[in-house]
Formats: sequence, C-alpha cells, structure tokens
Amino acid sequence: MRSWSSPDIPLLGDLGLGVGPVVQVHDTATGRLRPSDPSGSARLYVCGITPYDATHMGHASTYLAFDLLQRAWRDHGLDVDYTQNVTDVDDPLLERALATGIDWSDLAEREIELFRQDMTALRIIAPANYVGAVETIDLVVSLIDKLDAAGAVYRVDDDLYFDVHADAGFGAVSGLDEQAMLQIFPERGGDPARAGKKHPLDCLLWQAERPGEPSWETRLGRGRPGWHVECAAIALEHLGTAFDVQGGGSDLVFPHHEMSASEATVVTHEPFAQAYVHAGMVGFEGEKMSKSKGNLVLVSALRAAGHDPMAIRLALLAHHYRSDWEWFDDEIAKAEVRLAAWRDAVSRPLAPAGADLLRAVRTAMADDLDAPAALAAIDTWAADDSAADPQAGRTARTAIDALLGVAL
Ligand code: ZN
Repeated sequence: MRSWSSPDIPLLGDLGLGVGPVVQVHDTATGRLRPSDPSGSARLYVCGITPYDATHMGHASTYLAFDLLQRAWRDHGLDVDYTQNVTDVDDPLLERALATGIDWSDLAEREIELFRQDMTALRIIAPANYVGAVETIDLVVSLIDKLDAAGAVYRVDDDLYFDVHADAGFGAVSGLDEQAMLQIFPERGGDPARAGKKHPLDCLLWQAERPGEPSWETRLGRGRPGWHVECAAIALEHLGTAFDVQGGGSDLVFPHHEMSASEATVVTHEPFAQAYVHAGMVGFEGEKMSKSKGNLVLVSALRAAGHDPMAIRLALLAHHYRSDWEWFDDEIAKAEVRLAAWRDAVSRPLAPAGADLLRAVRTAMADDLDAPAALAAIDTWAADDSAADPQAGRTARTAIDALLGVAL
C-alpha cells in the first residue's frame, strides 16, 4: 500500500552537533525502562488504523509518540526500519460501511487517504512498509498453516481459532491474570462466550465467509483473516523475529499485542518483540476519545479551521506519550502562543548557548520520550534574554526540527 511522504529530518551528527544518548523506552511487559540500542537498524512495528473514520487526536498522539522514538533513535546514529499495517478489512469497517451504504473498500480508501494527509501535515515519519490486511491474505494463510503444524489451531464451525495455551508464555505482554483478561476480552473484539471453543480466551485466526461480507478464496476455505494474526504475519514478514519495539495505543496491550506475540512465538520459538511500548489514551469531555462514543476531535477539522499543523503537533507534545490525558478546547490556543514565542526566539541574532539547549532536549527525549521536559527546556531558553551565541538560534531551530519534528 502507498505510504505517505516523510518530512526531511536533519541529522544533527552530520551538522557537527554530535549524537544523542542511548534511548530508554518503557516496556509494558516488564514495567521498566530499558535501553533500546540495537546494532544496525532499529526495527519498529506500530499497529495502524482501521480506516472507518477520520484521524482523531488519540490516533495522532499515538503515531506522534513513535515518530519521536524514531527521531531519538536516528539522533543516536541508528537507521530505522519501520512497518505499519492498515486493518482494511475487519468488523468495525464492515459495520460502518453497511450503516452508511458506502462500499467497504471505498470507505477504507477514503479514510486511509485522509489519514495520509493528516500524517503528512503533522510531519509524522512515514513507514517504509505500509501494509494492508487485504494485501496480506497469503502471508496470513501461511502463518496459520505453520500454527496448525504446531498444533495450535482448531476449528469451530468453519472458523479457525488459536489455542492461546499453545504458548507457555501467554500473558507475558500484558501481565494480566486470567480473570482480568476475561473481563477485557469481550470489550475489545473477543468472543469468550462462543460455543465450541476450547478456552474462552482463544482468539479467531480465520473467519469463514459470512453472507454479504468480503472474503478470499484460500486453501483454508473462503474467508478473511483475524486481526491479531494479521499483525503477527506482517511484522514477521517485514521485520523478522525479536524486533526492537512493538508499538500502539495502550488499548492494544490486551488482547491485540498479547495475541500477536503468542501467535508469532508459537511458530518461531523466538520473542516477537524486545519491548512493547504503549501510548496513553486521550479523553474528551470526560471520556476516552473513541469512534463508538462519538466524542472525537479530528486532526482534519482543526486543520480545516485554519490551525497551523505545527501548533497541533505542539499541543500533543505538551503531554507525555504514556500519560492518559484529556483534550480541552484551549490546548490549541496555548500551543499557538508557544509556537509564536519559539519562532521569535530562534530568529534572534543572538541567543543563549545553543549547545546547552540541545543537550537538555536530547536528554529529555532519550529518557522515554519526555517531550514535556523538552518543551520546558525550550520555553526557558526562549524566555532567556542573556543573548550571547550567534549560532544558537540556528542550532535551536535545527534541534527542534530533528528531535521534536516542529518546523519553526
Ligand atoms: Zn496490530
């Protein structure tokens, strides 16, 4: 699938500004910070959208977090190998298509294109491999075959299920006990009560054709892939095993990331990822921002209202990626004030030492992507009128572009 255009990213090392520290990321599976400093390329998989509605601030916040991670890795001197999927056939998409009378594939294409435009406007680094479920059917069938050979697949009617207990490490990503899993599972697409399953937590691998729904003819029969195995198949194909970071919103920890990891591990006997990194949820009007609740603040609506995408980006950066936070309507005005102050500050002929500012921003971003600390350091620098360094404005502008992705 066509990706979008990445922004140009200055490499500070090439500009004689050295390299940043080793990046520490918070790993959900261990609950700890861990250094992420692979030899060669850093490999990142981030779960993409199900394209049935426009990009809201919760999505933007998640994809921004993994954009920041890539900037910190690059600043440390690493190349980045980045894959993201699009779940372009799944129940929520088909339900929306049915409700609105739009062909499901037209709806998907329309929303994917809007997502590309929003990501481009926000200067979010594009994945090298942007892969749809629809173009992954063969990979999924192949992975299900391997799971079957490992004895981890069984049939309920004509659907295929994954026996989660085929993976002795099942539960290691989320750390949840079975009771907690059973409570969350049906809230996030699971079907614990379905008759014929060996265990309530077993998840769907392959859904046989339903009347009126899209399906593909395969050696498993006519049907379509389950969501978790889609991501397992795409990640293994494009990144291999034990890649550096599996990312997404915190609502994907269980069941999605747990299931994908178990399915991959049963086949490869290797860890799926080194670290599981999750962005917090964004609320609005007292509840998590979500399509089902209808309380969305859309990136495209803010853009259409004339807000500078860099102000939208700054509004998101004001919150730590791991925190759950609530969007208030004055966030964008506050970000616009900050953006104007920074633009004035980097244009000064003389400014306080740029090297000190660069060190502070690098330290903050390498410390689990602490953007609010980086913003505070830049605010302090911008408000400091002890001008001394004729290069400082240029250094600050370049560092803010490279590490925070804000074009001033
Ligand atoms: Zn995924």
